Amino acid sequence: MSSALDRYVVIGNPIEHSKSPAIHAQFALQTQQALSYERLLVPLDGFDIAIKELIANGVRGANVTLPFKLDAYNIATDLTPRARAAGAVNTLKFEGDKILGDNTDGIGLVRDIVVNAGVALQGSRILLLGAGGAARGVILPLLSELPAELVIANRTIQKAQDLLAHFHGHLVALDASSFEALSGEFDVVINATSASLSDSVPNISSSLFNEQSFIYDMMYGATPTPFMQWAAEKKASVRDGLGMLVEQAAESFELWRGVRPDTAAVYTELRSQLDYSA
Ligand code: NDP
Repeated sequence: MSSALDRYVVIGNPIEHSKSPAIHAQFALQTQQALSYERLLVPLDGFDIAIKELIANGVRGANVTLPFKLDAYNIATDLTPRARAAGAVNTLKFEGDKILGDNTDGIGLVRDIVVNAGVALQGSRILLLGAGGAARGVILPLLSELPAELVIANRTIQKAQDLLAHFHGHLVALDASSFEALSGEFDVVINATSASLSDSVPNISSSLFNEQSFIYDMMYGATPTPFMQWAAEKKASVRDGLGMLVEQAAESFELWRGVRPDTAAVYTELRSQLDYSA
């Protein structure tokens, strides 16, 4: 690797399937930035040592994925407000002694829904399914869009209630619910559970949305997720999380390089590699 290039990495375990190197290589080409971006597999107990080595070797920044987003939060010396609210970090920027931690997942989701899919969130009724790391990371960016209401529903209700307590005090009406107790119709339903990983669908009623509703699954793959297939059968519009992946990467890239890449071209390229449209 040329030492003339600014170096970046994506850290995770496992990491071999990460699409981030391909995404950032295309961003760098587009914006004529001289940088390299590699995958780094780190042992489960080796995150802090790996970060110290990266800094000592002059690496400029890192994306962080499972299972290290909490370790990244803890090692950061400075946090952006959205990273603090998320309680997790997916982007690190190394500046001298300073380690800036950011979380770009939530803004990536919002940009994919509002800008790419053209769905306004302001004034809408949003249902967020799940109360894990991904759900927590998107709540502040969703609230910033000023929806009429945001309901967090989770299989384990206590975790949804914990998130409610953490985020209460915003202007937006915020509520927590079990799947069974949900009622009314929602304009936007976001699946932030990992149910699709086991080919299952969160146990909610299809009466919670209608043909005008927009259904988003943070998961993505070569075929529509089971949740997307189920919602599409009810004639709702569906979209998967590939755009979120590209948008969160663009936000990291901008934080590091001060220039915003064109996400549409990269999304189209990745989608064609996955070989289906959603
Ligand atoms: P966590 O393990 O932190 O949380 C998992 C959540 O899913 C919990 O709320 C859990 O409920 C719920 N859950 C799991 N299985 C089921 C099921 N069968 N039915 C209903 N609920 C279920 O995971 P993350 O929050 O980190 O990730 C969630 C998803 O988001 C993953 O699939 C991940 O790939 C995706 N993601 C996508 C990104 C993108 O860029 N597109 C970025 C980040 C995440 P309970 O509390 O009851 O266990």
